[in-house]
Amino acid sequence: MIAEKGNISIHTENIFPIIKKFLYSDNEIFLRELVSNAVDAVQKIKRLASLGQFNGDLGEPLVQVILDKEAKTITISDNGIGMTAEEIKKYINQVAFSGASEFVEKFKDAKDANEIIGKFGLGFYSAFMVADLVEINTLSYVDGAESAKWTCDGSTTFEIEAGSKTTRGTDIILHINEESAEFLNEFKIQEILDKYAKFLPIPIQFGNKTNREEDGTDEEGKPKFKDVEVPNIINTTTPIWAKSPNDLKDEDYLNFYKELYPFSEDPLFWIHLNVDYPFNLTGVLYFPKLKEDFELQRNKIKLFSRQVFITDEVKEIVPEFLMLLHGVIDSPDIPLNVSRSFLQADGNVKKINSYITKKVADKLGELFKSDRNSYEQKWQDIGLFVKYGMISDEKFYDKAKDFCLLTSVDGKPYTFQEYKDQVAGMQTDKNGKVVYLYSTDSEKQDGFIQAAKGKGYDVLKLDSPIDSHFVSAMEYKLENTIWKRVDASAVNALIEKDETFESVLNEEQSSQVKTVFETSIKREGYTVEVVSMNPEDAPVTITMDEFSRRMKDMAKMGGGMSFYGNMPDSYKVSINGNHKLINKLLKAEGEEQAKMAKQAVDLALLSQGMLSGAELTAFVKRSVELI
Ligand code: ADP
Repeated sequence: MIAEKGNISIHTENIFPIIKKFLYSDNEIFLRELVSNAVDAVQKIKRLASLGQFNGDLGEPLVQVILDKEAKTITISDNGIGMTAEEIKKYINQVAFSGASEFVEKFKDAKDANEIIGKFGLGFYSAFMVADLVEINTLSYVDGAESAKWTCDGSTTFEIEAGSKTTRGTDIILHINEESAEFLNEFKIQEILDKYAKFLPIPIQFGNKTNREEDGTDEEGKPKFKDVEVPNIINTTTPIWAKSPNDLKDEDYLNFYKELYPFSEDPLFWIHLNVDYPFNLTGVLYFPKLKEDFELQRNKIKLFSRQVFITDEVKEIVPEFLMLLHGVIDSPDIPLNVSRSFLQADGNVKKINSYITKKVADKLGELFKSDRNSYEQKWQDIGLFVKYGMISDEKFYDKAKDFCLLTSVDGKPYTFQEYKDQVAGMQTDKNGKVVYLYSTDSEKQDGFIQAAKGKGYDVLKLDSPIDSHFVSAMEYKLENTIWKRVDASAVNALIEKDETFESVLNEEQSSQVKTVFETSIKREGYTVEVVSMNPEDAPVTITMDEFSRRMKDMAKMGGGMSFYGNMPDSYKVSINGNHKLINKLLKAEGEEQAKMAKQAVDLALLSQGMLSGAELTAFVKRSVELI
């Protein structure tokens, strides 16, 4: 073979300094690129053999990564398809972009190395992010092929000459530059391989070439050394997502989970994804047991492309409400050098997103149907996903409305339909709407809960952070329902009905009672009304209406109109004119009357945890006097 020098066909002085300078933060991906090229080369020869187009000895498919600290090199070797000198010229020298000006122009907006490498087909050239000098020593599988060696020192000139390789395959030798000395550390390399190569489909060996052993002498009588390597296979070539669900047991899924997330509690359940139309996708998604700190549990899904790890930022692929799931997704339809902007624009990604939503909904529905008991036990954890999904995704809602559970304060779970059937009798108001009562804090709202139960109503427990949004969304979706927090009004007005209690007070007495209470309440924003309720109901009830409270809650959470957040709180003080205490109050004298009213109001405030400081002290003092 005639040695040859030439120019890499990019019309620029020197593209490599640009690559190095701009891509520095992502430079570890050089190893991902070169190892996956090696894997591809091995898979190609296997494919040719299976097609009968290669009849030689295939050998054990293998990729090796060898670190030589003394020589300051990293060598990536494979026994794959190899390249002829012609192929090197074709595939390596003709870099797949047309010109430096275009490169620099497009590059201006690039966010990360992936974007550039992907756009310009620079996979192999990422080697120059860490190496001054790169050698390719290769022997093609083709009958009678000669070994070829390509050398490039990071300028645009290369040399190509006869190589020394006697077995089929390719060695890529990187002479690591000074700034990249960190890559001459086996722990660093191990870490990168663990990240990107752990599940590659061809065995990857990683070894260190620093241990040397004397091995006779050379012609001049100097001692010769042989390398003693203890290469380890570092990957699992057939990870569970690449297997058929029929060949897997629960234990396999749990073990894989432990491998991905050591020290984590077992997941609640998992979904094995497997589609080949209209896009290719495999994967296993796990529902983790949720912890207090959600943020720590985000970004746990790993994205692979043909078993090469790409990223664990899968925001675009996985619907937002499923971002707390764990596991892996593998799609060959997503390129290796995937960038954020690619994901946002890609049509397949959107399809993947809705496929995952559908799969998760189907799996939940299936769990609910096949083992309702265990589903109910897991509800605490999965409820959050389901509710979030129902709020944010119409299609998910359509499925989830049949397996979303509502839990009463007594802990009894119902589906939407079951709950409606359960409460419609007692809780339909005079306009034909079913009123769903709920509590966000069954300790604090106990008085109201008991009052509602006393009337034969049921109260739901809706106390998770997402529930306020859930309530608004469900009220909108479920026709003819009204959702009211149990303390939104005195029990008589919680559900508007035609039935009324006759008032024992005449108009004059009623207005007298109103005045007494008005003068005894010193707080801003409290309005007094005298109503005729069941004599057994509380004498005084203090409430904030549902609408104002929701607006306030929203303002507090940063959404909605901050206008409501700035408004003073307004409360309604409902006096039960039929209660015997009011009768007693009317009979009392001026000073005594005011004291009784004050005491009754304070008791109502106290029962709702709204009495504190000086007011509480005065109340305690007054109570002692009354004993
Ligand atoms: P890509 O892998 O995206 O095609 P690269 O720059 O990484 O871009 O590689 C260019 C081409 O060089 C590959 O498509 C392949 O034909 C060839 N090549 C690279 N590495 C190897 C290898 N280890 N064995 C055989 N061919 C290789």
